[in-house]
Amino acid sequence: MSPRRNARAVAPRPVRRAASGKTRALGQHFLRDDAVAERIVALVQPTSRDLVIEIGPGEGALTGRLARASGRLLALEVDHALAAALRERFAAASHVEIRDADARSFDYASLPGLKPEAGGRVLAVANLPYSVAKPILQALVEAGPAVDEMAIMLQKEVAQRVEAPPGGKTYGSLSVLTQMACEPRLAFTVPPGAFRPPPQVDSAVVHLRRRPRPLVPAAEAPRFRTVVLAAFSQRRKNLANALGAGLGITAETARALCESAGVDPGRRAETLTIEEFSRLAQTHG
Ligand code: SAM
Repeated sequence: MSPRRNARAVAPRPVRRAASGKTRALGQHFLRDDAVAERIVALVQPTSRDLVIEIGPGEGALTGRLARASGRLLALEVDHALAAALRERFAAASHVEIRDADARSFDYASLPGLKPEAGGRVLAVANLPYSVAKPILQALVEAGPAVDEMAIMLQKEVAQRVEAPPGGKTYGSLSVLTQMACEPRLAFTVPPGAFRPPPQVDSAVVHLRRRPRPLVPAAEAPRFRTVVLAAFSQRRKNLANALGAGLGITAETARALCESAGVDPGRRAETLTIEEFSRLAQTHG
């Protein structure tokens, strides 16, 4: 066996625990159910051609499996003690890099350059810390074609919002801004008992595939984002009033904007499709 995929180096082995004071702040609920880890990795089925980016490897519940299956693994961990322990564990596996990094500010656009084979995929896998799950997910989504597919564990309520269709209370800016670039599917839910220590809420794993073409072209994305955030800024108001307040324009101007885009200004943001938000953004420009 080649040294780079040394089986001993990627075999599961517990690493040193983080200082207990950090646990809550960094959302350190470690996965202790192997079957769940297996199911998460199986969603994206890494191969030797693929680069996997793991966010928050923690004590390595997913890391060993990802290292065995992928051609290259880059893991970003903000807790220096955990990162150091994992580096020690994977020292003999040259295709594994554990980096001290904050996943909120990582340059995901650079990932395709690290693929072991040009034709391989970039796969993001994570059991995300709940407190920073949304900014990290948004950063991954906004990475555009740099990330092909993701298997991400989130708080169940957030996972439901990510995949929600228009028309309900769970549909909001997170749904629209994710779905414009990816096709998300809530794959399965995970009970608190699967973690140590157990969180107070259920979790769920979302499988996201990048759309071959985003529903909104990259050049229009910033304006689209502004309009979506404005529309959902006051959910109880009708679209014209919410847009007026969120965009800093009069309700009358906002009504005219909706009418020019062919959208009834009396509707609520949660009833609009991505295509309708896109028309609003184009008209607003
Ligand atoms: N993947 C491990 C598992 O499934 O057991 C740990 C998951 S735990 C929910 C979240 C991990 O993310 C912790 O190890 C935590 O230290 C790390 N983390 C928290 N904030 C982070 C950030 N901004 N960037 C990178 N890692 C972070």
